[in-house]
Amino acid sequence: MKKIAISACLLGNNCRYNAEIKKDILLMDLLKEEHLIPFCPEDFCYGTPRPSMDLIETKQGIKAISNLTSADLSQPIIAYAKSFFHMHPDIDLFIGKDRSPSCGVCSAKLYSTDRELISTSEVGLMAKEAKIQGIKSMDAEQFVASYKGILE
Ligand code: SF4
Repeated sequence: MKKIAISACLLGNNCRYNAEIKKDILLMDLLKEEHLIPFCPEDFCYGTPRPSMDLIETKQGIKAISNLTSADLSQPIIAYAKSFFHMHPDIDLFIGKDRSPSCGVCSAKLYSTDRELISTSEVGLMAKEAKIQGIKSMDAEQFVASYKGILE
């Protein structure tokens, strides 16, 4: 049995910014024999529902910026991620929600400060911490497309 850290919204938890339930039934079926450890940095830090955020390339680096207030929301998310991986040092695999500025592994959108789209293959802030820890990391859609070889 693998220990898998997984975006809680993929399990159907009510933690998305707009409080919309998005359970990934196919993914859950593929993972039913595994030990799942859910996380949601945005819900922990900012509650649900909450204003959406985007990754912005600033002079100080890539930041998660509120689409409502333009506040930099990055630090609490990064702190949550560091704490999560400290509490769970033996994770085999990180599965993140595609396109999320926090959880996306290689699918988050990155904008300039003028809100021009720079990239659609950026890593989210929590997924970045998983990579720093050396944890194998995948977007959920990527996992579903290739899961057989991963869990064998
Ligand atoms: S993508 Fe990540 S931050 Fe967004 S709701 Fe899902 S678990 Fe929470």
